[in-house]
This record gives sequence, C-alpha cells and structure tokens, in this order.
Amino acid sequence: MAPSFANKEAILIIVCNNEGKSGIPVTAEMLSRGASALDALEAGVRVVEDDPEVRTVGTGGWPNLLGDVELDASVMCGSTLRTGAIGALKGYTHPVSIARQLLERLPHEFLVGDGAARFAHEIGAETGELLRPHAKTAWQRWFDSEIKPEHQAAWPDAPLIEYCHNAVDPEIGKDTTVFLCMDQHRHIASATSTSGWGWKYPGRLGDSPVIGAGSYADSRYGACACTGAGEMTIRTGTARAVVLYMKMGMSVERAVDEAVNDMRALKGGLISRVTIHAIDNRGNHRTVAVNGLPDNHYWLWLPSMKAPEARPAEIIQISDEEPQNKPFAMAVYTKEP
Ligand code: ASP
Repeated sequence: MAPSFANKEAILIIVCNNEGKSGIPVTAEMLSRGASALDALEAGVRVVEDDPEVRTVGTGGWPNLLGDVELDASVMCGSTLRTGAIGALKGYTHPVSIARQLLERLPHEFLVGDGAARFAHEIGAETGELLRPHAKTAWQRWFDSEIKPEHQAAWPDAPLIEYCHNAVDPEIGKDTTVFLCMDQHRHIASATSTSGWGWKYPGRLGDSPVIGAGSYADSRYGACACTGAGEMTIRTGTARAVVLYMKMGMSVERAVDEAVNDMRALKGGLISRVTIHAIDNRGNHRTVAVNGLPDNHYWLWLPSMKAPEARPAEIIQISDEEPQNKPFAMAVYTKEP
C-alpha cells in the first residue's frame, strides 16, 4: 500500500536496516497517518518477523548450537526513556510485541528465558514453530558433519565450547532488523528483533535486546540502533554513546564517527562487522557499516518520498585484518541444494 502523505509539515523520518524492507512501508503508512512512533515501529517489525525471506528475524531465524531458535527483541520510547526487552525466548513468533507489552505492563525493563516465556504466555502472545525446514536441514547437515561421533552420542550433553568458536553468522550482512523513527509529535523510538547469530551458544544474548548497546532512543536528541556483531557494540555501549555524543553537541555524523572510533579500542574477542544506524531530532540520519561489505545498505523514508528508498551504507574499515568471521563457512550448510 503506498503511504499517503497527510502530514507533509511534520519532520517524520524512518531508518531501518536492509532486513526491514518488507516492514518499512507499513511503518511509513502509519506514521504518515499520525500513528505514534512506537505503534508504527512495532507494526513494521512484526511484518519482518513474519517475512519468509528474512532468515535471522522471527519465524525462520537460524537456530543456536543445540538447534533451538532463541529470539531477542526490544523497543524504546525516547520520550519516557521506558524500554521493553526480551532475550532468549523460544516458541513465540512476535517478540517485538512481547517487548512492547513488557514496556506497557511491567515495572521491569528486561526479561529473558523462562521468565520471558512465562510473561509471553500470560499475555496470550502468538506461539508458533520458529525452526523452519531450511534452518532445520542446515543445522542437521552441520551437526552430521562437524560434531564428533562421541559428542553426537552424548548430545545434547556434549561440550559446546569448541563448536561455538567455529560458529559464525551464516549470512553476513543479513541479520537482525532495527527500526528508528520520529513521529509527528517529535517522539523518537527504536525497535529491534532477531534470532541472533546462527549457531550461537545457547543463552547467548547479542546487542539487540541490550538497551544502550544495540539500540537507544531519546526524543531530545535522537536514536541509534546497530546490526552485526553484538559482541562489539555491547563492549562499546554504541547506541547509548551515539545519543550521548549528540547530547554533548555533536551532529549525528560526528556522533557516529566517534562511536566508530570507540570500536578501534577493542582488542581481542570477536572483531567483525557492525552497522550503526542513527537519526537526530531534526530529521537527519547517518548509517555506517564498520568493516562492512560493499553491498551493505539500509532503508530510509521521509514524507517527501513516494516509497522507502534503499541507500548504500558508508563503509569505514577499522582494521586491516579480515574480520574474524570465516573459521569455517557456515554457508556450506545453509546453502539451498
Ligand atoms: N546484532 C545481532 C546480534 O548480535 C546480530 C546481527 O545483527 O547480525 O545478535
């Protein structure tokens, strides 16, 4: 449905990552009709969670080392600084809405695992099989080829540490979905949803549900959300840092540069790719792919546009070394026959 541009005067803006393609038209439609930032983001992310083409968000996401799909999601309202985040949730198809309900209905900000599932059940959230055939087949092929026979025999009570070190994102550059927007009342919000990295250690949380690392919104200044190696943005508190740098007077461009500079201090651990998406409260934005690949892009919608537009992310290399994401190519197992 093409957005109608009822609010031409308002400074509306949406930025989402490459995986947000199917959801951003819905968010644009709702924002242009006067919906709140949070409502518009939640609706857009729900579409992505259902999108069969998107294999790292919601239904169809990649499983962890044990073959279970664990989902993470978050929302943040930049006008109240309330957040809702859920992590390592199994069996529920719309984690973003569970995160939203957490924000609305609990005095807490973050639930994980069994507690998150209990809350989801209590609010009647939609359940469903998250592990789709393509992911099940890929996991089985990996298990059959990579797991030592003695560990296969003991499964799932086998040591996972050595296998975890080999597990990398099977689809580099196609990952989480992150959405940022400002509505007609200049409320700014952020939302994220992901299955995290494929073949992660069970219980691993990336940055997507960690407010301040994978997302942050403050209507006084702007918002930021990240995709890629959450292990990096957790260490540098990237999303909060970008908004704080804007509070300190930097433009959105400089604030993102400064957050990229923070990453240059990272030593050891997982150094890979991260894409930083940011907006300010005047309708400006910047998206930078740290160690990114040339095809990295994001989606932008402004009221002057007929439809959301894909834009290339600016690439900044912070290291001469090839990112550590190739110990063995998970693509061997995830490629369709
Ligand atoms: N940032 C996500 C995480 O660390 C994954 C991704 O965006 O690729 O779980």
